[in-house]
Amino acid sequence: MKAKIIEEKCIGCGSCVSLTDQKIFDFNDDGKAQAITTTLSEEDINLIKNAMDYCPTDAIELVENDEEK
Ligand code: SF4
Repeated sequence: MKAKIIEEKCIGCGSCVSLTDQKIFDFNDDGKAQAITTTLSEEDINLIKNAMDYCPTDAIELVENDEEK
């Protein structure tokens, strides 16, 4: 699995960045969140699922590594 941000939906609130201790998401130059790691442990996936619950715009997705979106 890998985390993916739908940039058009992200409003840059930062919840996902802080909820994952900046291990998985960080901000890009546009102030939007971006995934910074593609190697995810089970714990990381749980953190991401938690962040998905808190994302106000449903901008976070978990996708299979080979899934092109
Ligand atoms: S929680 Fe959602 S809206 Fe907020 S920065 Fe992360 S992806 Fe963007």
